[in-house]
Amino acid sequence: LRANFSVIQKETGFVNGLITVLHDITEQEKIETERREFVANVSHELRTPLTTMRSYLEALADGAWQDKEIAPNFLEVTQNETERMIRLVNDLLQLSKMDSKDYRLTKEWIDLISFYNRIIDRFELTKKQNVIFDRRLPNQAAFVEIDADKLTQVLDNIISNALKYSPEGGKVTFRVEEKLGMIVVSVSDQGVGIPKENIDKIFDRFYRVDKARTRKLGGTGLGLAIAKEMVEAHGGEIWAMSKEGKGTSIFFSLPYDARTEEDDWE
Ligand code: ADP
Repeated sequence: LRANFSVIQKETGFVNGLITVLHDITEQEKIETERREFVANVSHELRTPLTTMRSYLEALADGAWQDKEIAPNFLEVTQNETERMIRLVNDLLQLSKMDSKDYRLTKEWIDLISFYNRIIDRFELTKKQNVIFDRRLPNQAAFVEIDADKLTQVLDNIISNALKYSPEGGKVTFRVEEKLGMIVVSVSDQGVGIPKENIDKIFDRFYRVDKARTRKLGGTGLGLAIAKEMVEAHGGEIWAMSKEGKGTSIFFSLPYDARTEEDDWE
């Protein structure tokens, strides 16, 4: 902590005031450290796919392109790495947009239940694994004021994680519950789970429980950090509950006024 003192003195010479300005240096240093770590993380995350691609392309150029077995495989690897870099850069752009001062939500009143159902439908239609979808959603509409694009991304990130970490034949449960003036949306899976000591960190940028494994699954380590910022921009919160080997639930809340449902009657 650094303090600047200014003495307020009248022409007569009497001191009649003292201004103290406290600068929180530790806070500034923290921001600076975070910024440096962020740049280091980004560089590392980009270097990994780039060096992988370089060695595969070198092998192809050295003659592997002529091998009918190896060449398609090597090309597929470079394609996957390219896709991952594109996802990473898109996520970074998204985060930098949210960091900027003039970041705004485009909110509209939407029935959360049919909105959620449509997103689940899309995942159910395109899923490639054997996973059971279990919807525990209310029958009535629940209107919330949200930015639909942003909330779609929040749910996309959470649901794709649930599927990514689900075992063969596992169940993914989708819930919406009303609690104390908030509406709570959740996605639960029966996957590997997250160790207790790591559970709060999963919303940090670039944090992964198991770096090697999640990279192989194509993750960027930014999905939940983006979800957190977007939920908070809506005035909500995001959190996780998990049991290792049993599964994970990701919850987020949104401000909700049940009375708006009754407005139609007035
Ligand atoms: P990633 O792109 O690596 O999935 P996220 O920000 O979406 O990045 O998630 C951060 C980390 O949290 C993941 O790498 C993973 O370790 C853990 N995680 C997230 N969702 C789940 C889940 N449903 N089950 C188990 N681990 C999860």
